[in-house]
Amino acid sequence: MGTIEENRHLEETDKNYIWHPFTQMKEWLNEKPVIITEGRDCFLKDIYGNWYLDGVSSLWVNIHGHRKQEIDDAIKAQLDRISHTTMLGLSNVPAIQLAERLVKIVNQSAVSSKQIERPYRGSHPEKPEEKSLYAPCPMPLQKVFYSDNGSTAVEVALKMAFQYWIHKGVEGKSSFLSLKNGYHGDTLGAVSVGGIDIFHSTFGPLLFKTYRSPSPYCYRCELGGTYPDCGFACLHKVEEILREHSSEIAAVIMEPLVQAAGGMIVAPPGYLIGVRELCTNYRVLMIADEVATGFGRTGRMFACEHEDVVPDIMCLSKGVTGGYFPLAATIANDEIYHAFLGEFRDLKTFFHGHSYTGNPLGCAAALACLDIFERENTIEGLGPKIRILETFLHDLAKLDHVGDVRNKGLMAGVELVRDKATKEPYPWEEKMGWRVCHYARAKGVFLRPLGNVVVIMPPLSISTENLEQLLTVIGEGIAEVTTGRGK
Ligand code: PMP
Repeated sequence: MGTIEENRHLEETDKNYIWHPFTQMKEWLNEKPVIITEGRDCFLKDIYGNWYLDGVSSLWVNIHGHRKQEIDDAIKAQLDRISHTTMLGLSNVPAIQLAERLVKIVNQSAVSSKQIERPYRGSHPEKPEEKSLYAPCPMPLQKVFYSDNGSTAVEVALKMAFQYWIHKGVEGKSSFLSLKNGYHGDTLGAVSVGGIDIFHSTFGPLLFKTYRSPSPYCYRCELGGTYPDCGFACLHKVEEILREHSSEIAAVIMEPLVQAAGGMIVAPPGYLIGVRELCTNYRVLMIADEVATGFGRTGRMFACEHEDVVPDIMCLSKGVTGGYFPLAATIANDEIYHAFLGEFRDLKTFFHGHSYTGNPLGCAAALACLDIFERENTIEGLGPKIRILETFLHDLAKLDHVGDVRNKGLMAGVELVRDKATKEPYPWEEKMGWRVCHYARAKGVFLRPLGNVVVIMPPLSISTENLEQLLTVIGEGIAEVTTGRGK
């Protein structure tokens, strides 16, 4: 903690020199910034010594808490060996060890396919016999391509899928199918497959064309259906697009089970496996963007496990290092990998790579993070916390201005509405989500909303006491902001 003058100087210097992400800087300049100096478990400490409960895992990355001894130690040990070296022409020890571990865990599905309900049975394309020519059936994910963040993991996946079909001699597959309300990052390829207008529409002229299918957003079904009577109209739409355009589509890209940045939208059971089966039937690759859902957030290691889905390409980042380092992995199956093998002169090489790809410190952190999952049985221990969260959400849903509550595991969203009966949203300019977060901040809880959706996504390691504390503040904040009746 610095002196008052030192702290004020830091605040001014921040305002003078930093342009913050996803932030209207005019507002930032009028506020007192919270500047973090230290963390411990699920708490963050600011320069004045105030502690905040980290209710959104430092933007969905932290898993086992801050300053987790084993991760700190692993990074320090790696620091004594080497901090960084390139993966272009060299390899490094933790990157190798991590690739092997990741391949093991992404293929470790927790349920048997027999248990999975398949409520949607799409029709098959006209010439199913052609499938065997080049359609990769779901097969284990085998090859890890490292990069630095979620957006680059997605860029890699898109380019890989596109180039795969070229190598297979299939022409014309230069587009993608993505979902409304999907979010895959902020680089232009990722934005092209994104579906959140408020973030993405400005950049329209810079983007490549994609096909867009409705979001599996049951609370506000854009097809006017009601689950389950709708008969999966949203999957019918995916199928309609694939039936017409699969010859132009390299891959379907989606966030499995939870469209996170779109508002913590939880897809109905059967949607994910329905997409998988359509991809196989219509000979397009399936890219599962597990950047937000991966590493236990949904109650399983990966969201795909809930429906026993194996994508052709999986994107991982955020929680991979426990929230310590920017690291990402795009994992492809061998069918895709083998399509890139050839003679040097064939130019089948995947020409992509970032300077900090496979950073050894990040990989060492990730290995320690995975060790903790095993040693502490992190996933198995989530049950009671998920139940506390679900009980809270169930009660919260009774409030007049809570339109919808949804969660998968410890990822949750509370959608605030002006009128519960008509589902009329609050105008976004009213910043209802923000107001709840401001309330929480004053009570020592850090949150960040998505429009009218209050996001709850604490580190998996949060204690039940701290979780209850977090939820109490959120409940009070929502009551206060929506009715003025909070404590
Ligand atoms: N995919 C998903 C599903 C995400 O939620 C995010 C980030 N919130 C990204 C990709 C992009 O990750 P990054 O911010 O690390 O680029």
